Amino acid sequence: MSTEKYYLKIEHLNEYYAHSISRKIVNYCLENQIKVIVVPNYEQRIDFTKRNYMKTNNFDWIGRRIIRYLKYKAFAEGIVVGTVKPYHITDVCSICGEYIKKYNQGYRPRKNYHGGQLYICPNGHRGNSFLNTAKNIGLHFLRFYS
Ligand SMILES: [Zn+2]
Repeated sequence: MSTEKYYLKIEHLNEYYAHSISRKIVNYCLENQIKVIVVPNYEQRIDFTKRNYMKTNNFDWIGRRIIRYLKYKAFAEGIVVGTVKPYHITDVCSICGEYIKKYNQGYRPRKNYHGGQLYICPNGHRGNSFLNTAKNIGLHFLRFYS
């Protein structure tokens, strides 16, 4: 397969999954009567060029594409999509606010352990790092609007 065809295939896969995942999120909200979705505002101020996997190129970072599609699909169903600034949503504990260390089962917790599915904070709070990020996004939103 030529490089061009390969990139085209990736582009189609990104497009397919961005539509599929954004639709699943909206369907989940409809089934559970959820009226507000909060997402990190990745369009704003973050320096994507410093993070290779987030770099803007022809293929777009799929996370941003999912959010973009989610906004119009949610709007069509009467669901509000709110955004928060994406600062300290992944690196602090959602319970106490201290900086966390991430790790995977069988590995030592470290700061800047990208991809670590588990976390622990200095106060002993621990759990799933993705759920921790989701909780931080919700907390940021609540603090901003209360
Ligand atoms: Zn904590």
